[in-house]
Amino acid sequence: DFATLPDLIRAHATERGDRLALAEAGGELDYAGLDALMDRVAAALQRDGVKQGDSVAIVAAASIEYAAVFLGTLRAGGVATPLAPSATGEAIVAMIADCGAPITFIDADAATTLAGQRIPGKLVHLKSLGTWLAPEGAAPAPVTIAPEDGFNIIYSSGTTGTPKGIVQSHTMRWAHIARNSAAGFGDAVTMIATPLYSNTTLVSFLPTLGWGGTAALMKKFDARGYLQLAERHRATHTMLVPVQYQRLMALPDFDSFDLSSFRFKTCTSAPFSPALKADILKRWPGLLVEYYGMTEGGASTALIATMFPDKLHTVGQPLPGHEIRLIDDDGNEVAPGEMGEVVGRSPTMMTGYHGRKEASAAAEWFDAEGNRYIRHGDVGRLDEDGFLILMDRKKDLIISGGFNIYPTDLEAVLSQHPAVADCSVIGVPSEAWGETPVGFYVPHTGVDASVEEIRDWTNAQLGKTQRLAELHAIEELPRSAIGKVLKRELRDRLAASAA
Ligand code: ATP
Ligand code: MG
Repeated sequence: DFATLPDLIRAHATERGDRLALAEAGGELDYAGLDALMDRVAAALQRDGVKQGDSVAIVAAASIEYAAVFLGTLRAGGVATPLAPSATGEAIVAMIADCGAPITFIDADAATTLAGQRIPGKLVHLKSLGTWLAPEGAAPAPVTIAPEDGFNIIYSSGTTGTPKGIVQSHTMRWAHIARNSAAGFGDAVTMIATPLYSNTTLVSFLPTLGWGGTAALMKKFDARGYLQLAERHRATHTMLVPVQYQRLMALPDFDSFDLSSFRFKTCTSAPFSPALKADILKRWPGLLVEYYGMTEGGASTALIATMFPDKLHTVGQPLPGHEIRLIDDDGNEVAPGEMGEVVGRSPTMMTGYHGRKEASAAAEWFDAEGNRYIRHGDVGRLDEDGFLILMDRKKDLIISGGFNIYPTDLEAVLSQHPAVADCSVIGVPSEAWGETPVGFYVPHTGVDASVEEIRDWTNAQLGKTQRLAELHAIEELPRSAIGKVLKRELRDRLAASAA
């Protein structure tokens, strides 16, 4: 038999049932309560005809009910399939159809988004979960879960294209939870301030519950609300994306909050500027660890920033059990120190994309021994100590007059200008050069500088081939709900304004 996450939660419920498992603004639930609620969810799913291996879709902001449905699904042998409520109604329906969920759970906002859509399968409103649940004391029929069975499906962020359903197995999740045994989640109070449909969130949410800690859920992130909640709960752990750290550190009274309870802060999902890392190290107690990886799994690196303050320009070293290779366009490994596409292999690799044989095969790379790796679509190189220096996404790389231009290099310079609060650089088609770099920046309120001044200042510090052809001021950068800049939207906007 194979112990699953629901079994671990049962063990915590038995061992110390009054320990808080979940907390949110309006309520809390201990392990005994969570375990009982998971049983009632699982029994109700079985009553409704949900079979082992079926997807159960959830479209909602984080809440205790959400967590109970996610975890109860696992107990029934179902595959938890959290979907982005920020997606359009059509996109959500497409994902429900893609995973074939016979049942979908929604909150009030999702109900608005989905108004007028025909949803395949049954729909349950989290608000009326109480009437849907199996009666108190109900227990589901036991299921036998095999290690390779699906645990969850996560749709890729769609940063570079249509979201694909990434299937993660119980083994993969187990490997991840086990790996986090050293991170002290057992007595953790973990701030969950990113949406639950993202792997970024699950990598701290699942180990927290697996090891018996408390997950403090935020429905929607706002910098001040986050700090107040963290102070109130004496938070110890957190996973945040770079733009959230940026907003937190920019609060004028950040230093007046008592954050001395923090032990373990993590960051992932988008470029994390070395200056921001340095600022956090100085002003926010507790370890700072940056992860690089992708939902598909494979290469995962960690930079323990606290330990390597002179490596802040890197995303760290491969985690134990993870292997990284860098390959060229022909699929051959590059020479040591050279740049190439990151491919990785690990115990936490996806099984594949749901229902997409070709896309799954295209994501694979095999070494001479026939070992399977996953292509990451990111370009980087390893420094002399084996730390990964990430350049950019392959799709965002700008090839201008035969030279490779890495937008992150330009963004690093542009972001240093005092009048620039936020910025992004994309490549646009150019007759003379093939492609040429164009910048966007969000002006800092209260700092005066013209667009031309900022462009010239930036270009003066760049190589001749790297210079910005154009710079545009923009009110806000288009970002995904997980804080990634959507460069394709910037490209579309520019194309539309040129037309
Ligand atoms: P899609 O694959 O649908 O386009 P996505 O790649 O954004 O979406 P995720 O799996 O959420 O989906 O993100 C993985 C990507 O995020 C990586 O390939 C990399 O580009 C970026 N990323 C992750 N961690 C870091 C990091 N520490 N620094 C810079 N970029 C990162
Ligand atoms: Mg990706």
